[in-house]
Amino acid sequence: MRRVMSELMSTRNWLVMALLAVTITAAAQQSASAPQNPQPAATQTAQTADQSGPPQSSLAPPATMDQVVDRVIMREKDLIKFLSPRTPIVETYLQNLKQDPQLGPIPENDHYFLGRMDLSSSIDRSDYLQDKGKEEGMEKHLLGEFTKRFKFQYQPSGFSWMIFADRNDFDRQHYDFRYARREFLGDVRCLVFDVTPKKSAGRGRFLGRVWVEDQDFNIVRLNGTYAHPARNTYYFHMDSWRLNLVPGYWLPAYIYSEEGDFTAGAKNQIAFKAQTRIWGYNLKMGTANEELTSIRVDSVKDETPAAQDATPLAAEREWQQQAEDNVIERLERAGLLAPEGDVDKILQTVVNNLEITNNIELPRPVRTRVLMTSPLETFSVGNTIVVSRGLIDVLPDEGSLAMVLSHELAHIVLGHNLGSQYAFNDRMLFSDEGTYENLGFKHIPEEETAADKKAVEMLKASPYAQKLDAAGLFIKALQSRAPQLSALLQAHLGNNITENGTVTRMAALATSAPALDWNKLDQIAALPLGGRVKLNPWDDKVEIVKAQPVAITSARDKLPFEVTPFYPRLSRYGTAGVLPATSTAAPATRTTTANANPAPAN
Ligand SMILES: [Zn+2]
Repeated sequence: MRRVMSELMSTRNWLVMALLAVTITAAAQQSASAPQNPQPAATQTAQTADQSGPPQSSLAPPATMDQVVDRVIMREKDLIKFLSPRTPIVETYLQNLKQDPQLGPIPENDHYFLGRMDLSSSIDRSDYLQDKGKEEGMEKHLLGEFTKRFKFQYQPSGFSWMIFADRNDFDRQHYDFRYARREFLGDVRCLVFDVTPKKSAGRGRFLGRVWVEDQDFNIVRLNGTYAHPARNTYYFHMDSWRLNLVPGYWLPAYIYSEEGDFTAGAKNQIAFKAQTRIWGYNLKMGTANEELTSIRVDSVKDETPAAQDATPLAAEREWQQQAEDNVIERLERAGLLAPEGDVDKILQTVVNNLEITNNIELPRPVRTRVLMTSPLETFSVGNTIVVSRGLIDVLPDEGSLAMVLSHELAHIVLGHNLGSQYAFNDRMLFSDEGTYENLGFKHIPEEETAADKKAVEMLKASPYAQKLDAAGLFIKALQSRAPQLSALLQAHLGNNITENGTVTRMAALATSAPALDWNKLDQIAALPLGGRVKLNPWDDKVEIVKAQPVAITSARDKLPFEVTPFYPRLSRYGTAGVLPATSTAAPATRTTTANANPAPAN
C-alpha cells in the first residue's frame, strides 16, 4: 500500500492524496476477494412497498452498545456494496468569502464542479465540464486562485469523500466508537456516536460524529473531518446527510462544507462554504436492450387522422417536435433534467397566465422542465422551456418567475427556434459526460434583444404588470453580486444572463424598480440557493420545499444567491408523504417571501 501511495504522490500533483490512495488499494483487495459483485437488485428493492427494511432487520435487536456498533459497521459495508454498481451525479458549488463590515461574510468569487462519481472502486469522478486541450486543464480550472491564496490545493473529488466515513476500514481495528446520546433528526430517532481513529490507524481517517437511526442502525448523518493529514495536506470539515429513499438504505444526498474564521485577529485566511449535491443514483446504465421486453407494439399501422403527407409547414413543425423530444429525452437520461412533475405545473401555470392575457395561441402547448443543476440559466428547445433548479431557488416571487419565463416564451412566440439539428438521432449519440459539448441553445444577440423587448410587452399586459418591482429588484441584486458569482452565472446550455459581470437579460426592468437596499429587512430581492426546489437523489424528481419561512431578523439573514448548510427533515422510507401540512401553498406563487432556507446547523 505504501508503494501505491508514493507512486500516486509522485505522479500527480494533488496534495490531498493519502486517502484516495488508501481507497484504491483497499478497493482492489476487496474486488479480488469478491470478483462477482452481487447485484443487490436495487430496482426491485425500490419498487417494493415493504417498509421492513434490509434483511438485517430480521436479526435480533442488539442488546448492548457494542452490538449496535457492530451493526452500524455491517450496515455501512452493505451500503458500500449496494452503491458500488452506481455512478451518481455530483455537483459542488463553492463560494469563497470576504468580510463585509455590514453584511458579514459575503461571496468574493465562486467555483462550480459537475461530474459523475464511480462508486465501484474508488470514489472518483469524471467531470462534465472538461477544459479541453490543456494538460491538467481541469485541475488548473478548479484551482483558480485557490493555489495562490491558500497554501493547499483543491482536489476535485475532495467534497465527495464524505459520502462514507471510511470506505474501506470502517471497523473496530481502526476506530474507537463512543456513544454520546439519543437525538431526533426530523422524524427519525437516532443514536449518536463519536468516532475517533485509533493511534495506529494511519492518515486521513474520519474524525467526528455519526448519527445512526435506531431501527436498522444505518448511518444517516456524518459530521467531522479526516484526521492526521500529511504535510501540506488539508482536509475540509464536512456535514454529510443521507436520505432513506429506498427500503433499507440511506443514500448520501447532501454534503455541506465550510471553513473560515472572521473573528478579530484570526490568522486563518481560508474562508469558503460549499454545497455538494448527489443525485441520479437510479440512472439507467449501459444499453437499452432490456427495454425491448417492456415495449408493446399496439398497432402496425399509423392511425393518425390525417393519413396523408404533411404540408411543408406541418413537416417543419413535426421536425422541430422531433428535435425537442430528442433533446429532452437525452437530457433526462443524462440525469440533468428532472422528470416531468409538480414543479412544472407551477411553471406552466405562470406560462399560461402570460399566454392567456396576451392572446397567444400556439400550435402546440408550451411545456416546462427543470434542469437539475445550480447555475442560473434558462433555454428553450421547440416548445419546451427549461429553467435551472438554482434559478428557481433564488427567485423571490411569482412576478420574477414570470419575468424569467416570459423571455423564453418570447423566443417561442417570435419563432426563434434552435436545435432542429437534434432531430437527427445520430446527434444524440454521445456520452453523458459529453452533454455540454454536444448540446447548445445559445441565441444570437439580436434574438436576445428582441426576446427581452417582447417579454416586457407581455409582462405589462399580464397579471404580473403590478408585480414587476420585485423582478426589477432581483435584476438589481443580481447586478450587485454578478462580478463575484461568475461560476453561478455561467450558463452551460443556454445564453448567459450576464455578460462581463453586467446583467443583460431583462435589464430594462431594473430601471423602474425601487432602490436596492440590503439593510431593508422587508426588501427580499433574491433568496439563497437550495431554499425552494428539493430533488430526490434516487429518481431525480423535483418538488417544491415545504418549509416554514423563518423570520429575517438582520440584513445578514438574507443570504442572496448564497450557499447555506443543509438541514433536511429526515423521515423513513414510505413516510415522506406524511409531511406536516404547514405550507401547502407553493412558495413560488407567494408574493410575500421570507427566507425559506433550512436553518443553519449551529
Ligand atoms: Zn434568450
